[in-house]
Amino acid sequence: MAELKIKKTCSSCEIKKLITEFYKNKSRSDGLAHACKECDKALKKDFNLNNKKTISERNRKQYLTNIDARKLYSKEYFHKNKATITPKMREYYYENQNKLLDHANKYRSKNKKNIALTSKKWRELNKDHIRLNNIKRKEIIKNAMPKWADPDAIKMFYRIARFLRDKLGEDYHVDHIVPLHGDNVCGFHCESNLQILSAGENLAKGNKYYD
Ligand SMILES: [Zn+2]
Repeated sequence: MAELKIKKTCSSCEIKKLITEFYKNKSRSDGLAHACKECDKALKKDFNLNNKKTISERNRKQYLTNIDARKLYSKEYFHKNKATITPKMREYYYENQNKLLDHANKYRSKNKKNIALTSKKWRELNKDHIRLNNIKRKEIIKNAMPKWADPDAIKMFYRIARFLRDKLGEDYHVDHIVPLHGDNVCGFHCESNLQILSAGENLAKGNKYYD
């Protein structure tokens, strides 16, 4: 009966160890790495430290060469799997809300200029998309406005938001407390369903009526 090999000597520390202490390596005759796990880790760490610059340059190059392809892939993947991804994202968002908001707020105040520039660029590149969306939004708003709503009171909200935006240089907008086209409830476009939110608060709001 062939004796089962349960121990092997590490080529690096030269200690005889259980074979479970070695990573698998199919290209070797015994199917195990030559160095034990512990040494393997240490060797890899050493290698990475010695080659930090080369590795980061290689990663950067790889990242840059495929950036467009990868973006397209992610976009397509998201659209194909929207139905399963969206609830997961929502769940993750609610579980980590405070952490995420804190992070977003910090990022925003650190990168104000950059964000303004990017969003300006985006708006210029997506003029048609924005115009179409505005038309759609106006249509939704028109349909959601009851006869008893007070147009002057509504206008006041938009005026105040604009004033805050101009004065404070931050994004303030008019928000519908109950969304106009929620999944289960549809709110009205009227003065009692409006509030002014900053960009951060708007993120915090999420959508209470989604479930
Ligand atoms: Zn070893």
